[in-house]
Amino acid sequence: MQVFTSLLVLSIFFGVYVITDIRSYKLRKVESLTSLAQVIGTNSISTLRFQDNETARKILMELHDVAPEIIHADILDKKGNYFASYTKAGADSFLLPALNGAAYKFTDLHLYVSHPILDDTEKVGTVILDAELSEMARITQSRNKVTALLLIVALGASFLIAIVVQRYISKRLVRLVATMKEVRETGDYEKPIAEKGKDEVATLIGMFNSMMLQIKENQQRKDEFIAIASHELKTPLTSVKGYLQLVDMNEDMEQNKPYVQKALENLHKLEKLIKDLLDVSNIKSGQLKLNKKEFSIDHLLDEIIASFRISTRTHELVREDNFDGSTVVADRQRIEQVMVNLLSNAIKYSPEGKKVIIRSERTDTEFIVKIRDFGIGVSKEEQANIFERYYRTKDATSNISGFGLGLYISRDIILRHLGRIWVEAAEKGSSFCFSLPAV
Ligand code: ADP
Repeated sequence: MQVFTSLLVLSIFFGVYVITDIRSYKLRKVESLTSLAQVIGTNSISTLRFQDNETARKILMELHDVAPEIIHADILDKKGNYFASYTKAGADSFLLPALNGAAYKFTDLHLYVSHPILDDTEKVGTVILDAELSEMARITQSRNKVTALLLIVALGASFLIAIVVQRYISKRLVRLVATMKEVRETGDYEKPIAEKGKDEVATLIGMFNSMMLQIKENQQRKDEFIAIASHELKTPLTSVKGYLQLVDMNEDMEQNKPYVQKALENLHKLEKLIKDLLDVSNIKSGQLKLNKKEFSIDHLLDEIIASFRISTRTHELVREDNFDGSTVVADRQRIEQVMVNLLSNAIKYSPEGKKVIIRSERTDTEFIVKIRDFGIGVSKEEQANIFERYYRTKDATSNISGFGLGLYISRDIILRHLGRIWVEAAEKGSSFCFSLPAV
């Protein structure tokens, strides 16, 4: 667009320049031929008065040296008859064009000038000059060449400038898009883009930075609120739990036991939520501490599966590998938290599926756990997001309750152990996997 505009402007500029230049050349030519005709006229007055054709012809002959571009010249008497003529050697015979009273006329590459010969105020004859304008053809040609050359140079220069400018603009736009993508994938809003420019792209980047800052501040406020609220809820909840357990133990209140059990179950859910929220706050403030010890991960897996088998009536939990007693150095409680979260999810998000397969394998460097379910699965587009806090897939939000915190906490725990956590899509359902460095 920029190159096209420059080309258009330059073409107009050079076009006007060439036209103006040729016009002023023509005007100069008319003026000089008119002056020459005037001189010839003045010198010819006496020859016309005395009918001295010979002298008149001699006067015209001098044009050969004085003005070589003149190829024909005539002196007419006052009746318009030829009085004296001159034709440059080698020129064609003279054909006077119809000037129709005009003082000059341009045809093709000729300029004809007609000038009256005045003796005081009386017209005694006319001088007609015919000049060949071969010079004009040369000038036009050379101007065209210069114009074409300048246009090519200007086009090249504006093309180069356009490429540089475009690179400068697109480089910054590409950086902006890459940062947007990164923010979307990581949820990290603390990466303002450095920008010193003053153009529209700089304004766009400035707006993006201030938007990121606003989101970051809002998130900080939300995090602070959640941290305070969950902390404040913990104490009364512990006390309610204590009282309920007392009531549960009281044998006089046997008929109330089912209600107390229900209340305790719901209290347990509340406790889990508050614990997750506190974990999130600790992760954000970098205070989630690990208490690492060596233990057998297969053993832990079996313990958890056994306890799930007692509480789960809907799904069959299948352990699909051989116990090999591999040990890892990790925070047992936290790894248990991850396994429980992945197993509960596998059951929760496969209301139709009846089987959950748990697999553990050891490579040279890692210990890998895979939990395969046959449930609603996770679409490819959402796989990158489910480890973000509060993120829940579209399919899950409609009818399965949850807060989108478990996988976020699990990922943080595993990453702190220098392990990996990921999801593998299957034709039906999915596999949630994590690895820990082998001892
Ligand atoms: P919650 O289950 O409380 O929503 P999580 O962090 O454990 O929180 O999971 C985040 C989201 O990931 C869930 O809301 C769900 O959309 C998706 N998800 C997790 N596990 C599974 C699974 N086994 N199958 C399908 N989707 C899952």
